Amino acid sequence: MGRVAYVNGAFVPHANATVHIEDRGYQFADAVYEVWALFDGKLADAEGHFARLERSLSELSIPMPMSRAALTLVLKAAVRRNRVREGLVYLQVSRGVATRDHAFPTKPVRPAVVITVKGFDRAASEAKAARGVGVVTTPENRWGRCDIKTVGLLPNALAKQKAREAGAAEAWFVDDLGFVTEGASSNAWIVDANGSLRTRDTNANILRGITRDTLLDVIRDAGLTVNERPFTPDEAVAAKEAFITGAGTLVQPVIAVDGRVVGDGAPGPVAMRLRSLYIERAKALAI
Ligand code: PMP
Repeated sequence: MGRVAYVNGAFVPHANATVHIEDRGYQFADAVYEVWALFDGKLADAEGHFARLERSLSELSIPMPMSRAALTLVLKAAVRRNRVREGLVYLQVSRGVATRDHAFPTKPVRPAVVITVKGFDRAASEAKAARGVGVVTTPENRWGRCDIKTVGLLPNALAKQKAREAGAAEAWFVDDLGFVTEGASSNAWIVDANGSLRTRDTNANILRGITRDTLLDVIRDAGLTVNERPFTPDEAVAAKEAFITGAGTLVQPVIAVDGRVVGDGAPGPVAMRLRSLYIERAKALAI
């Protein structure tokens, strides 16, 4: 028998083992994993890995997919079926499969479970230990590349869930200096007290929104003033208007930040005008 994988309750040939395309692990990195070394077919240092798994899941509000005892049985069955004595067993638990939406599924879904087992050349590992290895250094940038539209969206998904639980539609990330960077899935804007538009500059660690870029052109063409510089949540509350932009929301007026009313608590004229100007421009640029 060749390699087998465990996928959501069934053992399947490794080559045919698949997860659903809307698995949140695949879509958002909304998943956790553990790896145990196998010594003579046994899960090494077992307790520590189970404890960390439970902690990681709990931090993400993902339930244990089954009891620890049941999971142990499944992991051991996977090891046995792969006839591996020295190697690694990999476990991944994702929040599950749901129609793509950053926030958690509103109807609870079952966590998705994948287990794979891989043989390991213990002698080679010992030889390497005897030789020693080199390392290189690299800047600590996990995850400092928000400019890349990657599916590593777990922080965005958690932020969006926080917004939903607060009865809000979007979460704005605030940096160490207290300035808004962008939304969980949108760019953030205000119309400041002077009537100038303001949005975060793209030297900051943000996604260069296409809607943001095109709206900058629209704003300049309309003869309005815009400054690409940061603002704080307090400045947003003190602003005349606030709004967010993105392909999903287009130009969406924001009427409250952390429950504090922006402007007069209603969509403002600038945001509404920019919304219609943007839609016009986006249609003109449609193919
Ligand atoms: N920031 C983030 C983090 C996003 O996910 C999005 C939506 N893709 C945006 C900004 C807005 O980008 P765009 O206007 O290209 O949709």
